[in-house]
Amino acid sequence: MKYLWMVGLLLVSSTSSLAVDNVFEIERVADGVYAAIAKPTFRLNCNAAIILMGDGVLVVDSESIPSAAREVIAEIKRITDKPVKYVVITHFHGDHFQGAEAYASTWPGVQFISSDATRESILKRGIPRMKGEILDLPGRIDKIKVELAQVSDKKQKEQIQQRLDQAEAYLAELKSIGLVLPTQTVDHDLRIYGTTRTVEILWLGRGHTDGDLFVYVPDAKVIVSGDALHSGTPTLTDASPYDWIRTLDLVEKLDFDYVIGGHGDVMRGKETFELWKEYFTYLMANAVNACAEGKTLDEARKTLAPTLIAKYGTRFGNIPAPFARTVDANIDRAFRVVSGPRVQ
Ligand SMILES: [Zn+2]
Repeated sequence: MKYLWMVGLLLVSSTSSLAVDNVFEIERVADGVYAAIAKPTFRLNCNAAIILMGDGVLVVDSESIPSAAREVIAEIKRITDKPVKYVVITHFHGDHFQGAEAYASTWPGVQFISSDATRESILKRGIPRMKGEILDLPGRIDKIKVELAQVSDKKQKEQIQQRLDQAEAYLAELKSIGLVLPTQTVDHDLRIYGTTRTVEILWLGRGHTDGDLFVYVPDAKVIVSGDALHSGTPTLTDASPYDWIRTLDLVEKLDFDYVIGGHGDVMRGKETFELWKEYFTYLMANAVNACAEGKTLDEARKTLAPTLIAKYGTRFGNIPAPFARTVDANIDRAFRVVSGPRVQ
């Protein structure tokens, strides 16, 4: 039987304590396997998977800020008195690794595991993006303040104020994060033997990024997939779409009933795999056609975006962003993959 409980998150800004209604829902997926489902907030957190191994705990992914990870840690402590021994970072995006410090300070012996590619990408792309976000956020916060001054509706004002509070708290925390890098890397596969179960950590090919890891719990028939598969809309910004299709094919060969994705609800079965592969295949075929017809990227966007929205707009969840908001960036990536560096 599944059960849920809610966790309130208190973010502390540099100026005042602000209670914001960011929450995780803890869902029991199988015996000793839980999903911490992140609710939307100004800066999205990822879902975490909590896997009890007998003598310790393995967690998958570590949120966008340590205070959010600490909320997951509080939940882990309600579930078990065993320590977290391993944190698997599925890929280099900030909402999956920036909160890792909270685990290091709570359990100093914890190992952080990623693929080789992800460790390198955190250094070369993840950390620079985080610094870029620190520079970019004050401008975004100013825009929210302008928006706040322009509305008079009480409810709307409250919502914008909440977004502003979350943005300011996020910026304050981002500036003081002590980053933790993976302490152990995987090239293809790694088995972790607990006293009650064995977990497989798998790199099966490029996909959402070049370093995506899957965590497979064979006895519970659960797979944890990061952003290589979730119940929302796929984002291709750092993706290898053709490889991604092949990688998902390989994952589907495993024996599992439940999938804990990096965002959104826990999935059952393999239906979402089929939807994502169909979307990538359709997107890439259309990008190839647009290229063959000599279209510029801008022309391709204009013709392809409405077609994709009509065909797929309602078939994906709205996390991390609604389909219509991701479609242009996904077309850009598809077009660049098929056309190479010539396209501007
Ligand atoms: Zn991602």
